[in-house]
Amino acid sequence: MMLLFNSASSRKEEFKPFQKETVRIFICGPTLYDYTHLGHARIFLTYDLLCRHLNDRGFGTDVLVNMTDINQNVFERARSESVGCREVARFYAERFEEDLELLNIRTISRLAYVSDYVESMEGHIARLLESGLAYVANGNIYLDSEKDKDYGRLSGQSQKELAMHRLDIGPNKRSQNDIMLWNCSEEFDFSWKSRFGVGVPWWHMQDTTVAIENFGENYDIHGGASELLYPHHEAHLAQYRALSGSNLPVRTWMHIGLLFAGGEKMSKSLGNVAWARDMVEKYGQNLLRLYIFSTHYRDAIDFKDSDIADKKEMLNRICLAGLKVSDRTEEGASGLVKSFHASLDDDLDSPRAIKILDDLCSRMIGGTSVAAEDFERICRVLGLRI
Ligand SMILES: [Zn+2]
Repeated sequence: MMLLFNSASSRKEEFKPFQKETVRIFICGPTLYDYTHLGHARIFLTYDLLCRHLNDRGFGTDVLVNMTDINQNVFERARSESVGCREVARFYAERFEEDLELLNIRTISRLAYVSDYVESMEGHIARLLESGLAYVANGNIYLDSEKDKDYGRLSGQSQKELAMHRLDIGPNKRSQNDIMLWNCSEEFDFSWKSRFGVGVPWWHMQDTTVAIENFGENYDIHGGASELLYPHHEAHLAQYRALSGSNLPVRTWMHIGLLFAGGEKMSKSLGNVAWARDMVEKYGQNLLRLYIFSTHYRDAIDFKDSDIADKKEMLNRICLAGLKVSDRTEEGASGLVKSFHASLDDDLDSPRAIKILDDLCSRMIGGTSVAAEDFERICRVLGLRI
């Protein structure tokens, strides 16, 4: 049995996918205007670990990542470099795929470019207008949050609390926390000639359409950084409910803690960004994985370069243990092997799993026998190349 913490209920729940064999996961993907920093890498490494563990437990996985190429940051990058938006997006999409390769992330099955789905987005918005769940105000289109009695439940907010957040402020909105579906501004470098006039399908609707077009009426896990819970995921869920008619379009909401540097969020303007590719070059992906997985995925990490280096001794022990594998696992050690996998069953408790692995390796160096098969299985789940 596997337990996963579900942000929607704020507790650990027994995880059961909708379909028996395959777990379908949507991860909020990169905005294609820059390289992958360590905070982003942490997100994709965590879902890679989850998938590797699910695969080890006999489940198939189908992981969908949306590639955001319609976004203000992409437009601005294109303008500042005097190139087209598509060129910028394509360049950083290629870098993203290189970064996945460098990080040994092999569990993503589909990369979906949101610009390939604009026609479907238009269709979805038209359906919401026809059903009266959305309305037009000054040319923009909004989802009417008052028509959804569950709006606010995912982020645990009452109507009063929701009212304190004013989203996409605009005149004639019925409520200032209504979700924008379509922005009719012509100022963007990407604009689509739709039946509602020229404009841009808005951020949350991009993800919803990509997910519906790929997964249909439901899927098992929605993932992303914890900061996306509100309004992004709340909006996505409300839209999904409205379009699919399902009360439970997503089984589990799994949010990853942020990665800070010097107590601040990583950002170029603060000069505290660590790029994933630089970190792999400096330390290798094995060390990076041991470092990231040594903190529970729901906790924040305050990144220090030296903390990665501190994992070197542990990696040396793992490598040395790898040279001492035998053809059978003796009794005392088989309990540790079982505990390693059981830790990951408990809401992906990777810090505990890594401590158990370290203990196992120390014993192997001391002469305890562990079968190559058991040792390699652990390395495979963690994505370590020993
Ligand atoms: Zn998203």
